[in-house]
Amino acid sequence: MSELNKEISDYTKNLNKASKDENINRAVTRAVKSFRTNVASTLARFPHTVALAAEVREIKASAVKNNKELLEKAMASIERNHGSAYFAKDGDEAIKIVDQIIGKDKVVIKGKSMLGEEIQLRHRLEELGNEVWETDLGEFILQLKNDRPMHILSPAVHVPREQIAEIFSNFFQKEVPPDIPAEVAAVREFLRDKYFKADVGISGSNVVAADTGQIVIIENEGNVRLVTGTPPVHIVIVGIEKVVPSFQDAMKVAEVNWRYAQYDAPSYVNVISGPSKTGDIEKVITYGAHGPKEFHVIFLDNGRSEMINNLDYNQALFCLRCGGCMYECPVFQVTAGHYGRTYLSGIGSIWTAFVDGGPDVAAPMLYTCLRCGRCVEQCPMKIDVPKMVGELRSKVVED
Ligand code: SF4
Repeated sequence: MSELNKEISDYTKNLNKASKDENINRAVTRAVKSFRTNVASTLARFPHTVALAAEVREIKASAVKNNKELLEKAMASIERNHGSAYFAKDGDEAIKIVDQIIGKDKVVIKGKSMLGEEIQLRHRLEELGNEVWETDLGEFILQLKNDRPMHILSPAVHVPREQIAEIFSNFFQKEVPPDIPAEVAAVREFLRDKYFKADVGISGSNVVAADTGQIVIIENEGNVRLVTGTPPVHIVIVGIEKVVPSFQDAMKVAEVNWRYAQYDAPSYVNVISGPSKTGDIEKVITYGAHGPKEFHVIFLDNGRSEMINNLDYNQALFCLRCGGCMYECPVFQVTAGHYGRTYLSGIGSIWTAFVDGGPDVAAPMLYTCLRCGRCVEQCPMKIDVPKMVGELRSKVVED
């Protein structure tokens, strides 16, 4: 059996198995129902969001076109703000930069980041001898379960509360009931100590403003506040496609992002411009007051430049990672994210083809997509996934 045939056969078995898994079925059914209801009601309460989304599409299209120049501007702004900016051409380079910043045997706390999954950040930092903790509740569950995210926004969407209770009871060595508030409280208690012991906090970013060098991170749990504000060193790893021209643009992107991710207003919108500082003593600016003394931003390419330069596919870079398309996808609804790759569903097949192994690796996902177009209707960026899937299929066949 050729490598590709074997991969397709394993992939099909995996999807079939997932489609018969009662835990997945129960958890995804609950999630789809509540996500759809929540998005519909938030868009009804804030109807201007639809027009704002169209404006954001234009912002993203222009930003992707001018990415090189915006990236240079963003990096210069970060340096001006007393941060350090880096460019990494691939995952290995990004890990090397992180390794050089943090050194060995450190306690590292992480916020949720799909890009972190893309480059296997936690595993690779652990291999380098660090103690690494996921602080997003969903990612923490997956860390204990030794599993991978099954949704870009809600990574543990496939794990129902009953199974989480079992995992937590085992890990915490005490009875944790299948009661969501009790499960949340158990993790809060455990991670509290890690926040204050950590040497380094690592986060992603939803969007970066080139003019001010500010990074914007949307969250609800409050873990990102602690990850980015408590340890002495904060490292951001972000894809080059996340840069937009101005802070105003960045806030528009953020607002559309959280609305389509089902929130009227998220609990927190973190805007970070540089290391913590004070001028309270004799007006002398001193870095490292209560927050991090060091602020590092690593921009990762890892195939994104190729996507930018390919006009047939560069609309995939407009993706805000709101996750809405997945809840509309008929395949996702029965299998969750059991595609075996970091990026999931139709849009994920395009990303996989560019940043996670190439078109052959993406082939099984490309042929799983039904090209029904329900994702395009839901997508705030109106990304034409079925069209790109069709084109990539032809490319896979030709090659
Ligand atoms: S493709 Fe569209 S709907 Fe899907 S995650 Fe990206 S922005 Fe959201």
